[in-house]
Parts: sequence; C-alpha cells; structure tokens
Amino acid sequence: METILVIDDTATNIQILVELLDDTYDVIVATDGRTALEIADEELPDLILLDIIMPFMDGFEVCKQLKENPKTKNIPIIFLTAQTDEESIEKAYEVGGNDYVLKPLKPKELMARVKTQLELQRSIKNLEYLSSYDSMTGILNRRKFFELAKISFETKKEDLFAVMIDIDNFKNINDVHGHAAGDIVIKTIVSKIADMLPEESIFARLGGEEFVIVCNYEDEKKLFDLLEEIRNSIKDLTLNIENHLIRFTISMGIAQYKETFVIIDDLLKEADAMLYKAKETGRDKVIFRT
Ligand code: GH3
Ligand code: MG
Ligand code: MG
Repeated sequence: METILVIDDTATNIQILVELLDDTYDVIVATDGRTALEIADEELPDLILLDIIMPFMDGFEVCKQLKENPKTKNIPIIFLTAQTDEESIEKAYEVGGNDYVLKPLKPKELMARVKTQLELQRSIKNLEYLSSYDSMTGILNRRKFFELAKISFETKKEDLFAVMIDIDNFKNINDVHGHAAGDIVIKTIVSKIADMLPEESIFARLGGEEFVIVCNYEDEKKLFDLLEEIRNSIKDLTLNIENHLIRFTISMGIAQYKETFVIIDDLLKEADAMLYKAKETGRDKVIFRT
C-alpha cells in the first residue's frame, strides 16, 4: 500500500480525508508543519496532501522546506486550499506543489488527483530505474556509473580504488556454447561479484563483458585479497547449460588514487592498463602494480 501524509490543522478536514483515503492507502496525519517535516523525513511517504492555512508555519513554508531536503524533495505535493484567488494558486506551484484541490473537497476529484500523482510518481521511478541499471544484470549501467564515480572522486578520493574486470576468452564461450549461454555466464559472474563486494561499492557494467568497481578501501592488501577471493570463486564455478559443463575465468586490473590523477578517468585508465597487463600475461589474474 502506498503511504499518504495528510497535513492539516483542522480535525474535521483530517477526518474527511482519512475516511476517503484509508481503504486504498496507508494514511499518516500531522496537524502542524514542524511535526509534518519530521514525519516526512522519517516515513518518506509517496504523496503529501498539504493544507495552506495553518498556525505557526503555513503550507507554503512546509512545502519549501520539504523541497530543500534531498530526502523529501521528490515527494509529490497536492495543496488543499479554500483560497481560490490566483495568487495563492500560483504560489502553490511556485513553491513546488504538483497540484491543488479546492475545499470543500469533492471526494471523486480528490481521489482522481491523488491517483494521478501516484501514477506519475511510479512512472518517474520506473524511468529512473531504467536509466540507471543494466537490464540484463541489474547492476548500475555505464551512465549511472560515471555519475556516481565522479561524485566519489570529487568527495572522497584519498582511499579510492578502481577495478576493471573483463571475462577471459568470452568470445570463445559464445562461439562454443551460444550467445544465450554467454548471457547466463555474464549474469552468474555479476551476481557472484555483487554478493562478495562490500555494500557501498559502486559496481557497474561498462558494456559487453566488461565491468568496473569503484570503492573506498582502508587497506590495499585487503582489497587485493578480496579480489583474489572473487577471482578464485568464479574459477571454481561450473555451469551446466543443456548438459554442457561451462567454466570460465576473469581478469582484473586495480588502480589506487594518486595525486597526479585529476579526474576519475585517470584512475580508470590506470586500472585499464593493469587489466591489459593481466590479459597479456596469461589471464585469470588480478594485477595491481607492475
Ligand atoms: P579476452 O580474454 O581478451 O577478453 O578475450 P574475449 O574473447 O573475452 O574478448 P573480446 O573482446 O574479443 O570478446 C568479447 C565478446 O563478448 C565479443 C562479444 O560478442 C561478446 N559479448 C559482448 N556483450 C555480450 C553479451 O551481452 N552477451 C553475450 N553472450 N556476449 C557478449
Ligand atoms: Mg573478455
Ligand atoms: Mg572485452
């Protein structure tokens, strides 16, 4: 059930809204702006219904503050207003409201507007997902990777590492077992790596059978050991696809931030060079420094 936060200082309004919405949605109530901001920040409702005239802090101010908080800024807001003057309505949109309904409330109109905002929000989230994740593996795609990796590089680069990963002789797997089997190999490798990585790592598919990890790590030796462990557990896997046993390995190149690196691409380029070395010297390897 989707959650709707109702913010209104009048008991009768709250009662009407709760009765209308309660069957279809999870309704939470706040009777003043300050409490509403706290609840919104904690509960992250899917939609907010916001009264304009309230003591201490009016609806416009509540809306402004919701929009200033990165956690709540994308929650759609429908204003509830008895004010039909154009200035109030204009201001409702100006401070970031998505829609408004006039009091006294018309139940069917309110329900339709609520439904529309929630549907719109669902499509936005869906589009955000599609534009950020690789549909085959479920990990970050190239576009989202660069967006996040740049932020990491700009905010916390001192202990930043990049790891480039490429499946060994993958063309051969496709040639021998078929493209569909190749896809299963990619998904298997990705899910193994994802399971073994620390949660806050940025792990993405750069394209084809090439992947990248960007992570902060306190100890280079520990990272190297983890990657060795990952490499070995992938080497130990055997897939049985249509009675064909398939085995595979990966190569990895690691780079650590140094002061001569100005942009994230410098770090990635170094990791790529190390990956190239791993390929050149026999594959199924993790190379850090040469
Ligand atoms: P190396 O060890 O040097 O990396 O050899 P390789 O054969 O893995 O490298 P190469 O880059 O020559 O081949 C990669 C192959 O990966 C070519 C391409 O057809 C295949 N490939 C890329 N994306 C996909 C995919 O999504 N699914 C499948 N099944 N194959 C893919
Ligand atoms: Mg390859
Ligand atoms: Mg490749």
